[in-house]
Amino acid sequence: LSSRTAGFTDSVIRRMTRISNRYGAVNLSQGFPDFDPPEAVTDRLAQTAKEGPHQYALTWGAQNFREALAAKQEHFSGVRVDPEEEIVVTCGSTEAMMAAMLAVTNPGDKVIIFSPFYENYGADTILAGAEPIYVALKPPSFSFHVGELEQAFRQGAKALILCNPSNPCGKVFSYGELRIIADLAVKYDAYVITDEVYEHIVYEPCKHTYLSSLPGMSERTIICSSLSKTYSITGWRLGYVIAAPHIAGRIKKVHDFLTVGAAAPLMEAAVVGLAFPDEYYYELRRHYTHMKDLFIGGLKDLGLTFTEPQGAYYVLVDVSEFGVRDDVRFCEWMAEKVGVGAVPGSSFFREEVHHLIRLHFAKRDDTLYEALNRLEGLK
Ligand code: GLN
Repeated sequence: LSSRTAGFTDSVIRRMTRISNRYGAVNLSQGFPDFDPPEAVTDRLAQTAKEGPHQYALTWGAQNFREALAAKQEHFSGVRVDPEEEIVVTCGSTEAMMAAMLAVTNPGDKVIIFSPFYENYGADTILAGAEPIYVALKPPSFSFHVGELEQAFRQGAKALILCNPSNPCGKVFSYGELRIIADLAVKYDAYVITDEVYEHIVYEPCKHTYLSSLPGMSERTIICSSLSKTYSITGWRLGYVIAAPHIAGRIKKVHDFLTVGAAAPLMEAAVVGLAFPDEYYYELRRHYTHMKDLFIGGLKDLGLTFTEPQGAYYVLVDVSEFGVRDDVRFCEWMAEKVGVGAVPGSSFFREEVHHLIRLHFAKRDDTLYEALNRLEGLK
């Protein structure tokens, strides 16, 4: 068997879903909603099931989907997007990220990753044969040290991966921080691969800034995002890359041979969502703010220690008060005995961090209340 696959384990996030299911735990590990997607989108899916399309779409995505996506992206980011030359529709942003890495890096190239990071980036770099350089985001604000970041670029990094809003720490990078990242990327001629799947899940007073909108960045930013979180359709596996034509062209080739294309009937149905008016995104933010406040309030009442997220739908909870030394075993114990599934924090950190667990709150009120009730069992 290849040594390539020996360098990483299966996903701890998805393993925790299996463990949660085994014990009948409330699964707050793998982040996905337990409420329904917008009815207009599922109604259109039912209609599409009857009328099609049922055959392959164009390999880089159905034209009406790319046109609707380009219009939405321009509306929110203010950056022009050419639906023909600059978009590749992928099977989730998971494929988008992998295809971007394969298209940008040669084996041995260095890639900067902020730690904590979404666990896929580790495996993606190994699969691409690239070498990660980790730069710490320091709690509680999860800000980075500019000198450390510049030192990483100076080592000849080909690209930086930026998850904004960040999974797992809930950080929303400020305009000033993005400006520093952009200036360094330009100075050291590096690409930035963004993961912006939580772009519409941001809490007041924070705002999401698209890195591609900063000076000199539209030609070197490779946006990876998806419809999973924005329209509550994680199982549809609809993601995309937006990048300048010469980069998107290479990504199209990788994507063509990896998966041929995203699911045609699902793209057709999702076009309805991409065309939603601004009120939809306003309501989405309002809903997520409600879930966050409910859950965070409950954690506070339980006397737990955590950093309040500025965006995305995760919270890192400090469990050191329970004498935790092995967060993996703690999460297994918690799923079985407390009945709540969480992800051990160590799967997100480069540093030795074993006192944090990640919980997500993209759930119905009754699910969150049940989880909070059960978490009393920790005490
Ligand atoms: N992004 C979600 C999480 O971090 C789920 C990702 C996945 O399993 N594809 O939990």
